[in-house]
Amino acid sequence: MTASATLDWTSYNNTINGRAAKTATTRHGINPATEEPLPEVPVATQDDVDAAVAAGRAAFPAWSRTSWDEREALVNKFMDVVEVNQAGFVDMVVKETGKAVSTAGMEFASTIKFGRELAALRVEDKVLVDSAEMTGTLRHVSLGVGAAIVPWNWPLLLATIHLVSGLITGNCVIVKPSPFTPYANLKLVEVAASIFPPGVVQVLSGGDDLGPMLTEHPDIDKVSFTGSSFTGKKVMASCARTLKRVTLELGGNDVAIVCDDADLVKAVPAIATMAFLSSGQICMAVKRIYVHEKVYEPFKAALVDFAKAIKMGDPEDPTTLVGPIQNAMQYGKVQELFSEIKKEGWNAIVGGDPDARAAQPKGYYMHPTIIDNPPPDSRIVQEEPFGPIVPLLKWSDEEDVLADANASKMGLGGSVWSEDTERAVRLAKRLECGSAWVNSHFHLEPRVPFGGAKSSGLGRSLGTLGLEGWMEPQSLWVPKASM
Ligand code: NAD
Repeated sequence: MTASATLDWTSYNNTINGRAAKTATTRHGINPATEEPLPEVPVATQDDVDAAVAAGRAAFPAWSRTSWDEREALVNKFMDVVEVNQAGFVDMVVKETGKAVSTAGMEFASTIKFGRELAALRVEDKVLVDSAEMTGTLRHVSLGVGAAIVPWNWPLLLATIHLVSGLITGNCVIVKPSPFTPYANLKLVEVAASIFPPGVVQVLSGGDDLGPMLTEHPDIDKVSFTGSSFTGKKVMASCARTLKRVTLELGGNDVAIVCDDADLVKAVPAIATMAFLSSGQICMAVKRIYVHEKVYEPFKAALVDFAKAIKMGDPEDPTTLVGPIQNAMQYGKVQELFSEIKKEGWNAIVGGDPDARAAQPKGYYMHPTIIDNPPPDSRIVQEEPFGPIVPLLKWSDEEDVLADANASKMGLGGSVWSEDTERAVRLAKRLECGSAWVNSHFHLEPRVPFGGAKSSGLGRSLGTLGLEGWMEPQSLWVPKASM
């Protein structure tokens, strides 16, 4: 495929061994804004999995011997063709995820940036011993065939991060999209397969049984998984049977701790955006807001104003900030949590209607909702809602707020908001999470590792640390003089 080639967005196939592969049965996703069916996509079987794994194994020896520079050049060519198809990718991401077109544009821009910048990284050999007799060098070798298992919330970006990390380290990769959002992933790999040698990049779309077929497969060496903590535990148990290497990027219940000296003019819109963007369906969305009692009331008033002004509706409208929940199952889960508001007597200071959908002609819409100071042990504080609902909690003592923040089983990210950077850094360092931010909550760069502590994950994506997860360390001992 040349850099000017445009994609056909009406028909979808798996890609096995460099070729489009049809399946006997098909299924389709649903546009969450309209509840209309999207085009038919393949349903892969065990035979398809076996064929893709065999093609990956056949391609691996030659691919793993290519140089980093050759691989980087191919990734850049791949990104060139994806970039030419920006309008098609953004449109499909809006249609399959329901996220606002402005957010889908952000996802697309990040896809290109992360694809190119990850491919520019290198895992260098390190000489750890250099004595009169010996050198001992730590080097890293490619693993083999990997499966990249992708969730539905940011499918294009997350598939690209897994895929490019696997490819640049000399592995062959089979992408498995979420059954809810297979479309952009199928086209992403269609593009890649026209650029990389057959078997190096493949994609299999299917039903709920496809993930376990990959994690159980004896000839897959690595599983790079993004999804819920619940599924991540199953993936790890399944991979243990064949001792596959695993990276798990899982759920979060991120805190934002607002100090009494925070700049509320900057903090409120930033925190509110990170709570409600994509209807809260982001792993590192702000899911618990702890505000110092001295600024609790002004923070609350400004947050409520912001939430009321959020434009929810048609994701294809460029002025929309928040679209619907991505699928009926997730809508049901969020709605069930909303039904606790009345039962538990939580004070919803904005939103809170568990039946917002009734007011819309179509689509899985939920209004942005803020719960005022619920008990610390309530579900809304303890669980990841993955919907547009956030609790606002009051604190007065630093040790207490740190204890509450760290009381979660999750540990993806957390932020501290204060004009006193030294104080903020001191608190941020004590958060038990993989990413800690000061006066921001969404800073991600391809060079900087990302991942979760505790039940939020295992291993890291991004950075050379993320790439090393796709490689086996080898310690190479070489005598200086012949024996
Ligand atoms: P999910 O766990 O339901 O599904 C994720 C993927 O796993 C899908 O492709 C699914 O088909 C597949 N899968 C399901 N069961 C499987 C099994 N037994 N074996 C192998 N694969 C299986 O997650 P989701 O609902 O698609 O995504 C939402 C979750 O993902 C949230 O918890 C969110 O926080 C998390 N997430 C985490 C990150 C991160 O980087 N940490 C990023 C995005 C989303």
